[in-house]
Amino acid sequence: MTALLEVEDLRVAYGKIEAVKGISFSIEQGQIVTLIGTNGAGKSTTLRTISGLLKPAGGTVRFNGERIDGTAANKIVGMGLAHSPEGRRIFARMSIEENLQLGAFLRRDPAGIQADMDRAYTLFPILGERRKQAAGTLSGGEQQMLAMGRALMSQPKLLMLDEPSMGLSPIMMQKIMSTIVELRDQGMTILLVEQNAQAALSLADRGHVMEIGKISLSGTGADLLHDESVRKAYLGED
Ligand code: ATP
Repeated sequence: MTALLEVEDLRVAYGKIEAVKGISFSIEQGQIVTLIGTNGAGKSTTLRTISGLLKPAGGTVRFNGERIDGTAANKIVGMGLAHSPEGRRIFARMSIEENLQLGAFLRRDPAGIQADMDRAYTLFPILGERRKQAAGTLSGGEQQMLAMGRALMSQPKLLMLDEPSMGLSPIMMQKIMSTIVELRDQGMTILLVEQNAQAALSLADRGHVMEIGKISLSGTGADLLHDESVRKAYLGED
């Protein structure tokens, strides 16, 4: 099986500060892969580089067999790689419907766009019920649903989610996590960045622990969940 995404020896720097120091990992079609690690480990920087928002200082990123490091971000979206950023970045004054339409900005198939909007409303009924309302009136968890729905509107082959559980109640977090599994079961491939290691590892096929710009440990979600060093450092056990 060839990997859908292949990251090799990726390095990213902000000026003189190297935030990502040569990481390698790959994602097979239909997998959920998670990057866990503390604040500042370089997880968001990795996602921003894969999606073309940052230029790497070294290494390669291949998507569907094609080099995409150095490719413009909008072109990468068009190739089928969507990024739901940390902090959601929804447009508060625009309606839910308009926010979803933004996710389809590269598409020219109105019927297909409408079908995907309906799919988003089936996945998250609250978005359909409130489609004409300003997105800023949604709760944090509902805004996260909107951010995921918007990313799906570009018809991605790979969906990258940065901290989808951030600031959510346990019930909302459960809903978001079960939706991630539902998407994977429908065939979506997902790269999930999470500080909530327990939740992320419980549903991931594979996981990588990032520490100050490097991957320190890799394994199946279940392996990492039971790894003693992971339990101590990330699951609050002593
Ligand atoms: P978090 O969950 O807090 O976002 P993270 O693992 O995603 O953590 P990054 O946000 O990728 O980590 O940050 C990695 C390192 O790069 C940190 O030391 C951070 O301070 C630094 N960094 C991030 N963004 C910038 C920036 N725009 N300019 C300079 N340094 C940055």
